Amino acid sequence: MCGAWYARADAILGVPGIHTTAVNETATGLSLHVETDQILAGCPACGVVAVGHGRRKVWLHDTPISGRPVRLLWAKRLWRCADDHCPAGAFTEEHPLAGAKTKLTARAIVWATNALERYDSTVSAVAHQLGVSWRTAWAGIEVEATRRIGRADRLAGVDALGVDEHVWTPVGFPGNRMVTGIIGQTRDKEVKMHARLLDLVPGRSGKVYADWLKEQGQEFTQGIKVATLDPFRGYANAVRDELPEAIQVVDAFHIVKLGTAMVDDVRRRV
Ligand SMILES: [Zn+2]
Repeated sequence: MCGAWYARADAILGVPGIHTTAVNETATGLSLHVETDQILAGCPACGVVAVGHGRRKVWLHDTPISGRPVRLLWAKRLWRCADDHCPAGAFTEEHPLAGAKTKLTARAIVWATNALERYDSTVSAVAHQLGVSWRTAWAGIEVEATRRIGRADRLAGVDALGVDEHVWTPVGFPGNRMVTGIIGQTRDKEVKMHARLLDLVPGRSGKVYADWLKEQGQEFTQGIKVATLDPFRGYANAVRDELPEAIQVVDAFHIVKLGTAMVDDVRRRV
């Protein structure tokens, strides 16, 4: 089988243990036929060396290559236990390339979630780049994002916080439309800031922000050195009560806005 693998295409694909057997250009991008190099498998129940039981082909969407959406046709090996009395029966090979019942490769999900978390992208933008529907992209991202949010060390090292409100939905009662966004604004060793959305909480009030800060615990709030906020009084109260050690900074956008409003005011008077 080794003769049918395209070493150069494998190098571009770059997934250890996955080999390309065909590369095709399609109307929407590239399609690659792939397989693993797993030629031996043990029965998961009894450990006996399994025998081949054919293949099952699954389509997966992978990260783009040279800006083009990529689909992989993975010819998954099926195995069955050599012992007829074993309860394991037939089983499918597994590989870190993709989990069972997913339409996206594992790295495509990580790539899309990174784009949202770090590079201000949107679900529809990454869906377009992957050549999938919004729902397909979100199905993968939701699992990965939930896993990341649940990580205990997610907020470790954050020493600068920003807060601002956003209109979440244009419809509904005015009080229900707003969310408060909490942003990490920690600077690295080169004093470069890496803004990161840490959380979105329904509502827009000092209490919402204060409650969120309380929820994170003292160890977190005591580590906050700088707190950026818009001039909304409610947030300032929350910072005063929950982050007494932090230096309060009004964000540049609102400073400029207040400054121009004042200049306008004076101009109208004279
Ligand atoms: Zn078995």
